[in-house]
Amino acid sequence: MDTSKIRNFCIIAHIDHGKSTLADRMLESTQTVASREMQNQLLDQMDIERERGITIKLQPVRMEWEGLVFNLIDTPGHVDFTYEVSRSLAAVQGAVLLVDASQGVQAQTIANLYLALEQNLTIIPVINKIDLPNADVPRVTAELVDLLGCNESEILTVSAKTGKNISEVLKAISERIPAPKVSKVSKKEVGSEFQALVFDSTFDEFQGVIAYVSVAAGEIKSSDEVYFVASGKTLTASEVGVFKPERKSVYALKAGEIGWVATGLKDVAEVRVGDTISSSAQAEALPGYREVKPMVFAGIFPQEGNDFLPLRTALEKLRLNDAALVFEPEHSPALGYGFRCGFLGLLHLEIVQERLRREYNLEITVTVPSVAYQVKLLSGEELIAKSPQELPDVTKIAEVREPIMKVDIFSPKEYVGAVMQLTSDRRSVYKTTEYLDEKIGVLHYEIPLTALLVDFYDKLKSATAGYASLTYELIDYRPTKIVKLDILVAEEPVESLSSLVYDDEAYRAGRRIVESLKNTMPRQQFALKLQAAIGGKVIAAERLSPLRKDVTAKLYGGDYTRKKKLLEKQKKGKKRLAQHGKVNIPPEAFLAVLKR
Ligand code: GDP
Ligand code: MG
Repeated sequence: MDTSKIRNFCIIAHIDHGKSTLADRMLESTQTVASREMQNQLLDQMDIERERGITIKLQPVRMEWEGLVFNLIDTPGHVDFTYEVSRSLAAVQGAVLLVDASQGVQAQTIANLYLALEQNLTIIPVINKIDLPNADVPRVTAELVDLLGCNESEILTVSAKTGKNISEVLKAISERIPAPKVSKVSKKEVGSEFQALVFDSTFDEFQGVIAYVSVAAGEIKSSDEVYFVASGKTLTASEVGVFKPERKSVYALKAGEIGWVATGLKDVAEVRVGDTISSSAQAEALPGYREVKPMVFAGIFPQEGNDFLPLRTALEKLRLNDAALVFEPEHSPALGYGFRCGFLGLLHLEIVQERLRREYNLEITVTVPSVAYQVKLLSGEELIAKSPQELPDVTKIAEVREPIMKVDIFSPKEYVGAVMQLTSDRRSVYKTTEYLDEKIGVLHYEIPLTALLVDFYDKLKSATAGYASLTYELIDYRPTKIVKLDILVAEEPVESLSSLVYDDEAYRAGRRIVESLKNTMPRQQFALKLQAAIGGKVIAAERLSPLRKDVTAKLYGGDYTRKKKLLEKQKKGKKRLAQHGKVNIPPEAFLAVLKR
């Protein structure tokens, strides 16, 4: 394949502006997929992606158009998956910037545009959904001109739904996006030293780990022996190929191409995304990516003890396609054997938990998520606490440090006040605000990761009618004061409900949790005590009154003493139940605990 004939690109957009639909139309127009095989949002392969209409896992595809080869990489929109976006951007030279004609430029459009400009990508502005009755093309055109400083004539208008003007987009891609540059290394070395960037990986039952690569120099054929530059491991490519979008093997993958290499390796962890594959062990690594580190931790326990092994198998399978998921066995006196798992963020946690339930039919308990705290003991020893159980006794602790994030919030001007209000009670440190244009401001903050967890993203969305977006990264660990808050139901501590909270917020948190438990727990045959405690001392309590079977209903005519006797009898029965009864805590109660 002649490098000058290749165009590598992605589509960036605010959620729901039509990325996946546009990709579908391109697959059709280029006859990559026959119309009869076409399903909507073909590149979103997971059930959960289709149901929720979100893209989680990027799925590359190769198309042929007028003698050229187009490699498209679809990108996810949620902030938890920003790293997936930057990975796909590093593998391409251009981006289609897609904006909904009825919505206009949105915060996520800009956040992703920034990532694309950082990679020096050529941007093709496209206005989508022009078929909608409330499409306002002139207004959105003005916004794009303003944002990009481009000419009106550079902006394309399409309907991904009806297919109108899709060929204009393909034409613009062929004309405006540069062919991939073949890296200098190979020219100097004359020969064909092979170099490729691994931008993703997946697992195939028969072929082992499949590395998704963007080839920078040279070529690779099946049975070539190559090296991972960073890890130093050797591998033999058992097969190489391209995405049609299903994997199709080819004779060789050459410089400029995007494709896959079957490695035969049995563990995805061995293929580090961001690593460079090279034919020379001495080669330098291509500018790679940050290693993805889990930020949020939670315990996952089977509800049935004998589901431990099936749970392990399920997590291992999920990890094969999700290198960001980490887990290690954990034992809890109350919950038995399970796993402490690490996630990129809460959406990631939610998706994993849903897949375990749905795809693997497992009944699981998920503990309250926590960040990782750095703990320094008086003895000088240092450790990491990722769960309430791992926090040592307060009397032994010299200092606890928590992760602090640099947060950039992109928000329409009219919602800046609402954003400031939302961040003000989140222990945030406000830095500055800048205005990108008349419409959108970027607010810069430093916020503890704990404060971002749970509902920050949702609250931000609802405070800004869905218009704001954010990106964040870890910048520091700073001293903080935290305590372990225990929750007792019927005087038994419920380990999965305990959490680490700020010292000075503990009372408020304890009160809030017992109150929300009171509102979500089903009534029992007996009065249920709900308590919050720190170090054995109860700081908040509620009582859920029992279901009252009306044992006296029959006794009309009202013999008072008889009625009283019956009530007494009932009370005794309930007391016995309260002592022996095992209370089932419904999943809604766990969620209620999380919400502020
Ligand atoms: P994504 O989140 O950017 O991938 O957006 P999708 O491709 O999933 O599209 C979001 C919604 O917009 C879906 O219901 C699509 O059917 C709809 N949609 C996409 N393009 C168009 C269009 O050109 N016209 C209309 N009317 N609807 C569209
Ligand atoms: Mg999509």
